[in-house]
Amino acid sequence: MTCKVKGILLRTGQTVHEECALTILTERRGCITVFARNNRKKSSSWDQFYYGEWVLYETGGGNFLLNSFSVEEPFHALKENLENTFLAGYFAQIALYFGKGEPQEAGVLLPLLLNALYLLGRGKPPRLVKSVFELKTMQLMGYCPTLKSCGHPGGFFSLEDGGILCDDCAVCAKTVPVTASVTTALAYILNHPPARAFSFSVPQLELVRLSRLTEEYLLYHLEIKAPALEMWKTICE
Ligand SMILES: [Zn+2]
Repeated sequence: MTCKVKGILLRTGQTVHEECALTILTERRGCITVFARNNRKKSSSWDQFYYGEWVLYETGGGNFLLNSFSVEEPFHALKENLENTFLAGYFAQIALYFGKGEPQEAGVLLPLLLNALYLLGRGKPPRLVKSVFELKTMQLMGYCPTLKSCGHPGGFFSLEDGGILCDDCAVCAKTVPVTASVTTALAYILNHPPARAFSFSVPQLELVRLSRLTEEYLLYHLEIKAPALEMWKTICE
């Protein structure tokens, strides 16, 4: 049976039979592995982040064989700058993490990932793109922070449930500092769909705080190894 899916290439590997194993994030089917013969295309010709239409043959065993691919967006701009290369790699690692469990659920991340990669390539502040991608991913995958106040004015963000805590309540919780403008940015991201969640600005110092907070929240909840994030930090911090 043949089918057509829109999706982005996240990872390329080799099988023992010298075929390419392509991991593709699609909207309807989540993360799928597609096998491609090597006779015409070498694995090196498959660039990470190629987005387009994949025509697949689905075997009875639930495997996908590649029939043809037409590229719609190669995201070449991401490879022109090391910072963007690392951040895009980090986003791919997060999407692959969610693609492992219930692979179909990861499909909701596709529009978010496409927006994030497009904006990185267009020169949007990388930290802003990173923060929105991290927080929106957590929200879409069922880890939405509550932003609920403990009832007293406070400057701490609880990593457990994403509530806002005062000094006293923060004593017994794992927290990161939060300011009023970071809280406003968090609420903005949570209240807008992926296409609009990136359309805000905060001063640089607040952006650094926001980026640290969304990262710590994500790493607190996910058992994820993110070497690309560490690489990004070596050039940005
Ligand atoms: Zn309190």
